[in-house]
Amino acid sequence: MSKDYYEILGVGKSASQEEVKRAYRKLAHQHHPDKKGGDEKKFKEINEAYQILGDDEKRRRYDQFGSAAFGQGGGAQPGWDFSGFQDFDGNFGGVDLGDIFGDIFGGFGGFSRSRRAKRGSDISLSLDVSFRESVFGGARSVLLDKTSLCDICRGSGAEPGSHVKKCDTCQGTGTVRESRRSILGSFTSLAECSKCRGKGEIPEHFCKHCRGQSVLKKQENINIQIPAGIRDGEAIKLTGMGEALSGGAAGDLYVKINVIPHPIFRREGFDLVMDLYAQPSKMILGGEEAIETLEGPPDGRAGKILVRIPELSKAGDILRLRQKGVPKSRGNRGDLLIVLHQKLPKKLSHEARRLLSDLEKEGL
Ligand SMILES: [Zn+2]
Ligand SMILES: [Zn+2]
Repeated sequence: MSKDYYEILGVGKSASQEEVKRAYRKLAHQHHPDKKGGDEKKFKEINEAYQILGDDEKRRRYDQFGSAAFGQGGGAQPGWDFSGFQDFDGNFGGVDLGDIFGDIFGGFGGFSRSRRAKRGSDISLSLDVSFRESVFGGARSVLLDKTSLCDICRGSGAEPGSHVKKCDTCQGTGTVRESRRSILGSFTSLAECSKCRGKGEIPEHFCKHCRGQSVLKKQENINIQIPAGIRDGEAIKLTGMGEALSGGAAGDLYVKINVIPHPIFRREGFDLVMDLYAQPSKMILGGEEAIETLEGPPDGRAGKILVRIPELSKAGDILRLRQKGVPKSRGNRGDLLIVLHQKLPKKLSHEARRLLSDLEKEGL
């Protein structure tokens, strides 16, 4: 009979490492044998549970194989049992026994691999984000239909408060014998018990909410943090947020970012680039021009700032506003590059023509 370390620590199967640690500290303090009312047996049990659940790798193995994986529960290890070969005398003319044994051992490897790989599916989704969000980052929540851990039984499959009992199908071993016949005679293999899914124990009363499945389909609100500076086509990985699986780890969620192009700004590395159309006279004499920026109040309205166009600027010149681009690292940003263009009228008035021909005489 394997021990339920989750129950010992009083945490759910989906508890974070932080929650496990907190529960352990609280209980260890409470039951410390040096304390009045302490309980050495209980204290040892808590320590044993924490040694497993407090370690990512050990916890993963425990979730898959139960405490038998650590030689403490005494349960049978999954694997092959060759007792069926006892009545086999090896004389099967023309059959290459090496190949057959190879197959059997291959099957053994395959069996362990498939147990290790028990994991929920990954989910991919794409998310449209505004250009501004991609530059400064943001938070989104999306509603996702997926298999999640039941939050009534917290993934244990047991009705809250219900005790666990030994699985009667596998007698608590978590494995069942399967017989297979071949030309070599019959031999048996050990397979995971489907009733308890290899745990060796089942709840006395199954959780009514998930009908003992530990997981169920539901809509879940997923919060997605969009990091500042994310590029179009990049994906955010949310570990463990994919499809949950009873008796295995959940898959991952991949959020592919689709940046909606901005009417004014475009991105080159960490720099933002925009075009500014100014009157020829302003480019010659110099002056100020109001431009939109991405900065501004958080409601998404863009702010405006004045930029100084230097005297005798020409089309194609670039004005550089330092630290107004895409955040690179804490307190460090790319630049805003403003590409100058001439803004010409649709047609020339008589007066404009006269003034410009005077300018032409001035060499302009
Ligand atoms: Zn449940
Ligand atoms: Zn069983």
